[in-house]
Amino acid sequence: MSKDKQFVTEITPQGEDFSRWYIDVIKKAELMDYSPVRGCIVFRPEGFEIWEHIKDELDRKFKETGHRNAYFPMFIPESFFQKEKEHVEGFNPELPWVTEAGGEKLEERLAIRPTSETIIGHMYSKWIQSYRDLPVLINQWANVVRWEKRTLPFLRTTEFLWQEGHTAHETEEEARQETNAMLDIYTEFAENFLAIPVIVGQKTPSEKFAGAVDTYSIEAMMKDGRAVQAGTSHFLGTNFAVAFDIKFLDRENTQQYAHTTSWGVSTRLLGALIMVHGDDRGLVLPPKVAPTQVIMIPIGPAKTREQVIGRVDELYAELKRAGIRVKVDDRSDVSPGWKFNEYEMRGVPLRLELGPRDMENGQVVLVSRITGEKRIVEQVNLTAEIQRMLVEIQADMLERAKQFRADHSHSVETLDEMKAMMEEKRGFVLAGWCGSEACERQVKEETGATSRNIPFQPAEKKTKCLVCEEKAAHTVVFARAY
Ligand code: AMP
Repeated sequence: MSKDKQFVTEITPQGEDFSRWYIDVIKKAELMDYSPVRGCIVFRPEGFEIWEHIKDELDRKFKETGHRNAYFPMFIPESFFQKEKEHVEGFNPELPWVTEAGGEKLEERLAIRPTSETIIGHMYSKWIQSYRDLPVLINQWANVVRWEKRTLPFLRTTEFLWQEGHTAHETEEEARQETNAMLDIYTEFAENFLAIPVIVGQKTPSEKFAGAVDTYSIEAMMKDGRAVQAGTSHFLGTNFAVAFDIKFLDRENTQQYAHTTSWGVSTRLLGALIMVHGDDRGLVLPPKVAPTQVIMIPIGPAKTREQVIGRVDELYAELKRAGIRVKVDDRSDVSPGWKFNEYEMRGVPLRLELGPRDMENGQVVLVSRITGEKRIVEQVNLTAEIQRMLVEIQADMLERAKQFRADHSHSVETLDEMKAMMEEKRGFVLAGWCGSEACERQVKEETGATSRNIPFQPAEKKTKCLVCEEKAAHTVVFARAY
């Protein structure tokens, strides 16, 4: 057997090589495949459906809070990028350009959007004239392209899918409220839908979005102790309003620049989901986001097969009616044991087994993916029991992820302690920071860890900078990050 063949038929244990484990799992579970273009991936149906659940839930939350969806073109004239200095400096190295189309050289190059502040700013300047036109609360679901040097499926790809919210407001206060409100939505969503606990806080100036006044993020811990920035919300002040002339007549009849925000999460969330919950047997998916929540497997000898499948089908219809995402695997050429492994690898939260003995007793066997615990359940209570177990599994997964994060969170006073910590242990490290870029850079150079954010609610307040030992301006979470 070739090495490649072995590679996809077996899963490397996490403890042996976490990166290999990750690639093995996402390929074997058929979430994605590589494309011929470097850094671009194909979202296969099993992976795309996870994204669809994420999208549906977030879309609902955005609409509930007054936002509407729109769509802006993916081609952005080069001149737009020159208008906001920091923005162009930040994004220029990652921009792909269209220079020729329809067999002719274009008069002006077009960038393929890496994010849409510029084109949206241009449009908002036409739509916003008076305070009566505000606030504008728009979200876009789209693909974007950033020509990244280092790529990793889902977590950092050249083309990725995301949503980007773009809002414009009368006052700074209102725009800041929006920035925080969307960060709250992301936090609640990560914890309650994806079962991923996050550290909520502000990015340091060197890590903020190009063109933002302030950037806020949610940061999650993967099972190898590394961080993933799972979502960002930016207060843009009047930077883009000045660059794109988004002005309005205020209530006193004077011209003002609007205050804008932007916020986004991407298909990176799939990578985080896999790395936070997965284990050596494969994916583990929280029920709320799992394409299949319950897999039903008929068992027993050939002579009772027809009868068993008949009952499985009846129960299937009942569960389906209750809105549970359920599937039956009644293939006869594959053993039940093989199927058990297969759906464990695919991360299905609950397995239902039904055999002739269970038929006689009016029961089924339910097995949880995370604990392996078996529960014998009366068929008459099946729907309610399954709904209860899915809720339990969802809550249990969040608790486990919180516990893992607590077990891998540390606190240090000095750079030497930090170095030792990064070598010996994995995880997040809380430390004091004076606020200077030089000290932040030194941490990165000497430990490989970057500042993740300045948490709103740090476990403790630090008083001294870990590098220069001057007074700490902030308490920061540092970690190696994807
Ligand atoms: P940004 O516009 O840079 O604040 O990014 C918005 C969101 O997209 C953040 O949640 C990032 O985590 C995510 N993101 C940024 N770059 C990539 C990438 N290359 N692949 C996938 N997700 C990304």
